[in-house]
Amino acid sequence: KQEIDDAINKLPEDIKRLMYPFEYSSTSTRKKNEERIFCQRCYNLKYHNKLTTTTTSPSSSSSSSSSSSSSSSSLWQETLTMDKSFLNFLQKKKNSIILTIIDIIDFPGSLIKNLDNLIGKNNPNILIANKIDLLPKNFDENMIKIWLKNHCSENGLKNIHDIFLCSAKKNWLIKDLCNEISKIKNYNDNIYLIGNTNVGKSELINSFLRTYVHNGRKYEVTSSHIPGTTINMLGLPLNIFGDTFGKNIRGILFNNNNNNNQGDRRFLFDTPGIVNENQLFHFLDQEEIKMITPQRNIRPFTYIFKPGKSLLFGGLGRIDYKMGKNPIRITVFSGLESHITSIEKADEFYKQLSFYEEDHFLKPPIGSIERLKKFPEIIKSIKNLKVVSNEKLYMNTKKISILDVVWSGVGWCSIGGVKIGETAIFDIWSPDGKGVYVRNVPL
Ligand code: GDP
Repeated sequence: KQEIDDAINKLPEDIKRLMYPFEYSSTSTRKKNEERIFCQRCYNLKYHNKLTTTTTSPSSSSSSSSSSSSSSSSLWQETLTMDKSFLNFLQKKKNSIILTIIDIIDFPGSLIKNLDNLIGKNNPNILIANKIDLLPKNFDENMIKIWLKNHCSENGLKNIHDIFLCSAKKNWLIKDLCNEISKIKNYNDNIYLIGNTNVGKSELINSFLRTYVHNGRKYEVTSSHIPGTTINMLGLPLNIFGDTFGKNIRGILFNNNNNNNQGDRRFLFDTPGIVNENQLFHFLDQEEIKMITPQRNIRPFTYIFKPGKSLLFGGLGRIDYKMGKNPIRITVFSGLESHITSIEKADEFYKQLSFYEEDHFLKPPIGSIERLKKFPEIIKSIKNLKVVSNEKLYMNTKKISILDVVWSGVGWCSIGGVKIGETAIFDIWSPDGKGVYVRNVPL
């Protein structure tokens, strides 16, 4: 740690600020962070966005040779995540509260499928749609909730106690969420926070700590854009959410009016993410994942999209307007660059694999030619997607205005403006044909 700090300290101040905007924005914040003790793995995650494996004990925080840095995205897939079978133990539980968290900008990609079957009926399940700070401004909360409910139902999650929109990172609506949890009666077991990798489970735990625990930042768990960094179930005894400032999360989370101190023996569990192989970050390395993770609310771009044209979406997605009479509207929601060209040129584009050129704007993938050779081919994931006149589209008897094509974890395109009586036909492409979803959006 000392060596790294020394090296960083030698850098010019403006570079430091660019690299670590939060830590270096004020010396007092920096000092506060220095007082915390990290294990080497968490230190690297927090300060260098690097996932390292370590065989030493977690308390070893000096840089040791037993640690090896890895940029391989398969590392976490093999060792650091759990599969769905771990949820089966929740089936045997009664009266545990389940907090199911999804990433609102990767929906339904970040939803664990068939949750109703996996976790049983006895446990009230609250759906938390996280990262709403990334949504374009002025979204309609009620519409999103209805829309989430419909899609969850189609994906095997009907048994939802309530739906909450929040931002763990910005602490938005966290108190409302806890108030809602407190209203659930007759439960006496732990709280389990479950979700796919990278949806923000650790960040949500941190948000609880920041909101309810005096000096909560001291206890924060390490959250990272690198998926699969929570190694094991992490239980926070509810008694650490003490009576500081008169806000007692036990009282809020466990509004059970019993005085036998049950709360002390209960835990709020952060769980390792469930791997969803359709999330596209499986193909990406750490730097590329950082590139696709939006840092602020997404600003949509609308294009007039003519038949015969292709929209390239970073190096990860492509949508061809194959057949249709008239131009339509296509709106892109992503932190990545997009580019419109003709369908023939798009083919050439990918064949030439010119992504390794430094000034190439359609990234990721990025890196050496070797890295790019290993990158899966962009192939057709959905052929001949038909969008019939938008006026005629319905979802559960509700008229819908647009149809979204989602590249899991990367962003989405909204198709609109197909004229009455017309049909537009599209081909959708993605790496290895994976991670693409089509969803309807209510009017
Ligand atoms: P986990 O794998 O589910 O535990 O996810 P993490 O808590 O490690 O978060 C994954 C990434 O999402 C990190 O880069 C977080 O900073 C980011 N993240 C989590 N919650 C939010 C949020 O509410 N808003 C935004 N913008 N990013 C978030």
